[in-house]
Amino acid sequence: MPDQDQSHELQVLDPATEEVVATVPAADAGDVHRAVERAVAAQRAWATTAPADRARLLRRFADVVDAHLEELAHLEVREAGHLLGNARWEAGNARDLLLYAAGGAERLLGRQIPVPGGWDVTFLEPLGVVGVIAPWNFPMPIAGWGSFPALAAGNAVVLKPAEATPLTALRLAELALEAGLPEHLFQVLPGHGHTAGRALVDHPDVAKIVFTGSTRTGREVMERCARHTKPVTLELGGKSPNVVFADADLKAAVDPFSFLDNSGQDCCARTRILVQEPVYDEVRELLAKALAAVVVGDPADERTQMGPLISRRQLDRVRSYVPEGAPALRGSAPDGPGFWFPPTVLTGERHDSDAAREEIFGPVAVLLPFTDEQDAIRLANDTPYGLSGSIWTRDVGRALRVSQAVRAGNLSVNSHSSVRYWTPFGGFKQSGVGRELGPDALTAFTETKNVFISTEGPAQ
Ligand code: NAD
Repeated sequence: MPDQDQSHELQVLDPATEEVVATVPAADAGDVHRAVERAVAAQRAWATTAPADRARLLRRFADVVDAHLEELAHLEVREAGHLLGNARWEAGNARDLLLYAAGGAERLLGRQIPVPGGWDVTFLEPLGVVGVIAPWNFPMPIAGWGSFPALAAGNAVVLKPAEATPLTALRLAELALEAGLPEHLFQVLPGHGHTAGRALVDHPDVAKIVFTGSTRTGREVMERCARHTKPVTLELGGKSPNVVFADADLKAAVDPFSFLDNSGQDCCARTRILVQEPVYDEVRELLAKALAAVVVGDPADERTQMGPLISRRQLDRVRSYVPEGAPALRGSAPDGPGFWFPPTVLTGERHDSDAAREEIFGPVAVLLPFTDEQDAIRLANDTPYGLSGSIWTRDVGRALRVSQAVRAGNLSVNSHSSVRYWTPFGGFKQSGVGRELGPDALTAFTETKNVFISTEGPAQ
C-alpha cells in the first residue's frame, strides 16, 4: 500500500463500520497553484460587487444549505461518525453563520478621524485570496467559520479540508455554485497536509491563512507564513478545566457530555475535572453512574449518545493514555468493526502527568481534587493551553474572580457552552492566535486603509 501521505487519492472511511464511503482525488501543489490563480481572478470581480449583492448571494447560499440540511447531516454522520442530532446542528450552524456573515457585508464600516487641513477616512478592504485549512473533528462548522466571513468581506476562499473528512466541504462548494456564487470564489481542494496544505500556506497570492488543527502543525503553519509576513488565524488544541466548587449544582456540573460530546474530539472538551475536596467523593460517584449510563453505538441511531472515534490512528493514540488496569471510571463501547473507545475518567493521575497535561482528543478525562479558590486557579492555569473552561459555583463574586483569573478565551459559568457564531471564539497561549466568529469576524479578513483628503484650496 502506498504511504497515505503520498497517495493521489483520499479514502473516506465510515468510522462506525470501517467501510469505504468514498474515494476522492487528492490535490497536489500544481492543483493548489491553479486554484489560487482562478481565485485571484474571481476575487477581483467579487470585491467590486456591491455589498448588498454579495449579501443577497450569501443569503441565497444559506437557503440552499437549509434545503439540503438532512443530506449534509447524513454525510457528516457517514464521514465523521457524528451523531445525527449533532450533525444536524452542524449543518444548521453553517446556514446560520452564512446569514450572520451576510449581514456584515453592508456593515463593514470605516471611520472618519478629525485631522487639521483636511478629512481623514479609513476603509476596510478585502485581503484577496484566503486559504482555510480545516481539521476532521468538526468538518462542516469549521469550514464555515474560516470561509463565510471571509467571503462576506469580499475575499475569495480556497479551503483544504482534512484528509479524513472532505465530503461535506465539497458538497458546500457545490451548493454555493447552485446558489449563484461566482465560479472559483469558494473552492474546496481535498488533499494531504504536507502537499496541498503546505502549497496553500506557501503560495504568495494567498493573503491570509486560517488554520484549525493541532498546535504542532499550527506552529509550522505560522513559521511558514512568517516567511511571507502573511497573517494567520490559528485555532489549536485545548485541555480545558471544569472547575467544580463545593457549593455548585453538582449534577449539572459533572455532566459527562462536557467531555464526551463528539467522542471527546472537541478542542473545547472539559477534560480536566477539578473538584473541591469536600465533594470529590460525591462527584466521583455521580460520574461513575453517569458514565455507566452513556449509550455508545451507531451514530445514525437517534438514541445513541456517543459515537466512534474518527480513525484507527486516533483510537491507538487514545488507548496509549489509558494503560490496562489504570484506576478509572469506565462506561462501555461496542466490539467489532469501527473505532470504539469507552467513556473514561482517570482517577489516579497527578496534575502533571501526561494524561492530565496533553490533549488526548478522545472520551477520556482526568479527575483531580483542589483545596480552595487559589488552588483551583493555579491548577486551571497549569497548562500550556487556554481555549475554554467551565466554572461552577453559586457564589457570584467567586465566579467573577475565577473567570478573570483563568487564562482562556472561552469560559462559561454554571454552563458548559462554548461556541456561538455571534460571539468571539479562540484561544489564549498555545491554543491559538486571533479570533473567529462574533461581531468582528469580517474585520479579521480586511486591511485597514487610511486616506487623507486635503481641503486646502489651490495656492492663490
Ligand atoms: P492536524 O493539525 O493534524 O491537521 C489539521 C489540518 O492541517 C488538516 O487539514 C491537515 O491536512 C492539515 N495539515 C497537516 N499538516 C500540514 C502542514 N504541514 N501544512 C499545512 N497543513 C497541514 O489536526 P487534526 O488532527 O486534523 O485536528 C485535531 C486538532 O485540531 C486538535 O488538536 C484540536 O484541538 C484542534 N482543533 C482546534 C479547534 C479550535 O477552534 N481551537 C477546533 C477544532 C479542532
